[in-house]
Amino acid sequence: MNLTEYKDVYVFAEQRDGKLQNVALELLGKARELADANQEKVVAMLLGKDVKPLAQTLIEHGADRVLVVDHDLLKDYMTEPYTEAITAITTEFKPSIMLIGATTIGRDLGPRVSARNRTGLTADATKLEISDDEAHEFRMTRPAFGGNLMATILCKNHRPQMSTVRPGVMQKMAADASRKGEVVDYKVDFDVKKISRVKLVKTVKEEKTVADISEAKILVSGGRGVGTKDGFAKLEALAKELGGEVSSSRAMVDAGVMDQSRQVGQTGKTVRPNLYLACGISGAIQHLAGMEESELIVAINKDKFAPIFSVADLGIVGDLHKIVPMLTERLRTMQR
Ligand SMILES: Cc1cc2nc3c(=O)[nH]c(=O)nc-3n(C[C@H](O)[C@H](O)[C@H](O)COP(=O)(O)OP(=O)(O)OC[C@H]3O[C@@H](n4cnc5c(N)ncnc54)[C@H](O)[C@@H]3O)c2cc1C
Repeated sequence: MNLTEYKDVYVFAEQRDGKLQNVALELLGKARELADANQEKVVAMLLGKDVKPLAQTLIEHGADRVLVVDHDLLKDYMTEPYTEAITAITTEFKPSIMLIGATTIGRDLGPRVSARNRTGLTADATKLEISDDEAHEFRMTRPAFGGNLMATILCKNHRPQMSTVRPGVMQKMAADASRKGEVVDYKVDFDVKKISRVKLVKTVKEEKTVADISEAKILVSGGRGVGTKDGFAKLEALAKELGGEVSSSRAMVDAGVMDQSRQVGQTGKTVRPNLYLACGISGAIQHLAGMEESELIVAINKDKFAPIFSVADLGIVGDLHKIVPMLTERLRTMQR
């Protein structure tokens, strides 16, 4: 493999039902930074059926070029045709770096594409950077050994250097309507025989019954110190006053008090709200991994040595069961 032939940062622009997923735009923001460090281009790969109108949004968020693969076979996500299309792109254009969102689709697609291209894949990276020495290495960092240390992974001998990144970890660029880019219709000759083994019979959409905490601007989050459903009712009352959502540490999910969809952390969701209010959460590394990028972190804990205070902008040492209702009441009276 002649590594010098490989260039540019490619992003899988995941869309569902013609709607771009947030993570695609977040990855473009990071890709822009990486490409600028190497004086390369950002290329978005947009696969689907009648998806070309989305290309402009990708350009506004950092893409220099959008490869649109429009085909009936790509209307709904299926492993084989999507892998086929991306492999056609990698074979022809030889990307140096490829980023994919760690969504259910991306987690299925990423390993397939990496195996097809005989390269490695760093799953769930939390940090991506180009080294500022002469080597200009692409460094992918992710938690390892149960989150107890951070491992930086290099893919030195194979290309593309691939990574998946969970939604909410990277930041979007602000949309810039004046950005210009190239939109290319890219035709793929699908080998129908190869990809007809699996057929999509029916799509059943899961009813969205709970709010997506990764989208919330304000989170009132509870840990073991909250303890029970009654304890969480106090957090819910505060969240209601603040116009936010309630989230949780894994301890309360494991105890059956909170639903897994509300778990923040390494094995839960990554969140970046404007306000993260951590109540009775100690601040284990696996929890911090999911929330430390929040804009403003306020922690309430009765132990003044709790690690959560090391990431908090404001710390309140005391009993949350007294402080949370007092805060709620104060907000109520302020709004009257
Ligand atoms: C592989 C792996 C993955 C993991 N993934 C995650 C993850 O995604 N998310 C996650 O959260 N954890 C995760 N964990 C678990 C993590 O290590 C911690 O065990 C967990 O975060 C602890 O939750 P906690 O802070 O609620 O509980 P604790 O650590 O028990 O802390 C409770 C805190 O509440 C305080 N407190 C108690 N009573 C009160 C009161 N009345 N008022 C104020 N403060 C009070 C205590 O002082 C203490 O600091 C993972 C662990 C492993 C090994």
